[in-house]
Amino acid sequence: MFNPLNNITDFVHKLTHRIHNLFAPPGATCLTCGTRAVLSPTYPGICARCAQQIPWIRSIRCLRCGRAIGCPDCSRPHMANRSFICNRSAVQYNALMKEWIGMYKFRGHERYAPLLTSLLIQAFQAMSEELSLVAAKETQASAAQSATSALPPVDASLHPPNPRASTYARVQPPGAHASTAVRTNPQAATRQPKSLLPSSKPRWRPDVVTYVPVSNERLAERGFNQAERLASGLAAACRLPVVDLLQRRINTTKQSFKTRGERIETMKEAFSISPGIMDTLRDLYIGKAESNSAREHSCPLKLLLIDDIYTTGSTMDACGKVILNAAVTGDIPVEIYTLTLARS
Ligand SMILES: [Zn+2]
Ligand SMILES: [Zn+2]
Repeated sequence: MFNPLNNITDFVHKLTHRIHNLFAPPGATCLTCGTRAVLSPTYPGICARCAQQIPWIRSIRCLRCGRAIGCPDCSRPHMANRSFICNRSAVQYNALMKEWIGMYKFRGHERYAPLLTSLLIQAFQAMSEELSLVAAKETQASAAQSATSALPPVDASLHPPNPRASTYARVQPPGAHASTAVRTNPQAATRQPKSLLPSSKPRWRPDVVTYVPVSNERLAERGFNQAERLASGLAAACRLPVVDLLQRRINTTKQSFKTRGERIETMKEAFSISPGIMDTLRDLYIGKAESNSAREHSCPLKLLLIDDIYTTGSTMDACGKVILNAAVTGDIPVEIYTLTLARS
């Protein structure tokens, strides 16, 4: 039935809304600071001021763990045989990042997911550029002499990740292993017109992405695994396969009462390989070997392990050791690289 009162209320509501929009500053409410502003085109949901406060790790001091400050950790003797080749992290774990990550991880604010994933994607692009340079230098060095170091010095000026950087996925054809075609003929890249260089440079690219799992108890509590979400977001954006490689048997987060030795022992037992997943890894390895040239036939499978925060590296190391052990048993050559959102 027609109700003139409803019509008037509706009209007044629309009018107030329009007047509000007329006087409110343009844009939307920033996810992280709550002010109304024009939102950043690069970082989903936040204003330009908040985007400027992101504590990017701009220059890497420790090539092993990707730390921006002096690193006594990696020079310790027991660190020499760590299971991963190197770690890189997007940002420093300062109070602001603690808040952002906490809002997502502990308070379940899903809107933080695209923002945090965008930070990880940029760090991945920077890591890819950095390791591409390493690969190019290795190729040059091996042409001169066969001996090369595992991780020669790299140009840290590549950090911070370029906010304007083209989305890696966009320049890569689906499923392409970028490095192969160019790496077999490194001179080809130098003959390209300059404008074509970004897409024709040899690109470091992992073959598979995985993540640090949480225990079932933690999963039930939070409803999701933040590391898995980050890994899936990155893998989707960069068109990489993601596998659920590991399981967490023991929840190791509440062990502050234990000694360092006890913590390391617990960590060793904390992770295991998901049943049947090594078959998937073998298929990926065979697929890679078949699509590669004869020169790269024996190239190991490059695996990128994702977590939210890197503190001492012991979690990453424990995961890496479980993967390497399973890979040796299954006769699958594997190289592990790690990438985290934050570095404390
Ligand atoms: Zn803001
Ligand atoms: Zn270090």
